[in-house]
Amino acid sequence: MPDNTGELISLLKKFKNNNPIIIGNGSNILCSSKGIYEPVIYSGNIKSAIFFNTTVEIEAGAKSQTISKMALDKGLSGFEFLIGIPATIGGAVYMNAGAHCQTISDYLINAKVYDYKENKVLHLSKEELDFSYRHSILKEKPYILLSAKFELDKKNKTEIKAKMDENLIFRKNRQPNLALPNAGSVFKNPKDCELSAGALIDKCGLRGFRIGDCEVWENHCNFIINKGNATSTDYTNIVFEIYQKVKEKFNIELTPEIIYIGKMTKDEKEKWKILKK
Ligand SMILES: Cc1cc2nc3c(=O)[nH]c(=O)nc-3n(C[C@H](O)[C@H](O)[C@H](O)COP(=O)(O)OP(=O)(O)OC[C@H]3O[C@@H](n4cnc5c(N)ncnc54)[C@H](O)[C@@H]3O)c2cc1C
Repeated sequence: MPDNTGELISLLKKFKNNNPIIIGNGSNILCSSKGIYEPVIYSGNIKSAIFFNTTVEIEAGAKSQTISKMALDKGLSGFEFLIGIPATIGGAVYMNAGAHCQTISDYLINAKVYDYKENKVLHLSKEELDFSYRHSILKEKPYILLSAKFELDKKNKTEIKAKMDENLIFRKNRQPNLALPNAGSVFKNPKDCELSAGALIDKCGLRGFRIGDCEVWENHCNFIINKGNATSTDYTNIVFEIYQKVKEKFNIELTPEIIYIGKMTKDEKEKWKILKK
């Protein structure tokens, strides 16, 4: 749990050959019930945000909701969508998180990352970060986001606040709250398909479908909730079953958005290999 960027880099240097895993808010992660071999680094204590006119440089562990409120305070628009997404800036950039027609890449100018294989800090432009739907270059390289710089728009605070409130109201019935533990959207929406992943799952009759203590949420089928004692094996099995049912009915292969970390059995390894291909 490093307290600053220097400590983070020291840990990355120490563990460079052990495939270190960095965790932000952990909101899109399915962690194995069997444990994790790799060293896990929590970034949440590295969280400064420095505003200058319409730009802001934010460290990786800063929480999305805090940043959204800070931007409102300064009369800056662009982060209204972040009010409803449980994330850190590092996790949001890695995933290219988005909602309500905004994504984190829209207002990003550049980012500072640490290449832990080469032991060097890199300054990447927006183009070099290679953003697309729920994708950034961080998914492909041994890069850890240290901070990112954004250029926001000046706007009336009342308008910004109204948009944030609208986003929160929209999510109230469409996203499970913390009383229903979940790892966010399970699958990405498929390309070239009019139906969302949730709608495809629903059309397969899987609303409320359950394996062990994992259940397809009744209000939105692209969320799987933990009814009590769900294990990562329950989760893997239900995700794979959904994938197969959608493939059988629509000939569409859904790709998971969630990220699995930790140990797997042979059977789980095979399932995730198929799911991630
Ligand atoms: C109820 C709920 C609602 C959600 N709604 C949305 C939504 O509307 N839109 C959306 O896009 N997502 C949504 N999500 C998913 C999740 O909030 C986002 O993917 C978010 O960006 C994850 O951020 P995090 O800090 O929690 O990342 P984590 O889950 O901790 O990590 C996700 C990935 O990012 C990597 N990572 C984290 N920090 C860094 C770093 N500093 N450098 C490099 N890699 C890093 C991790 O290693 C991991 O691979 C939702 C999740 C939940 C539970």
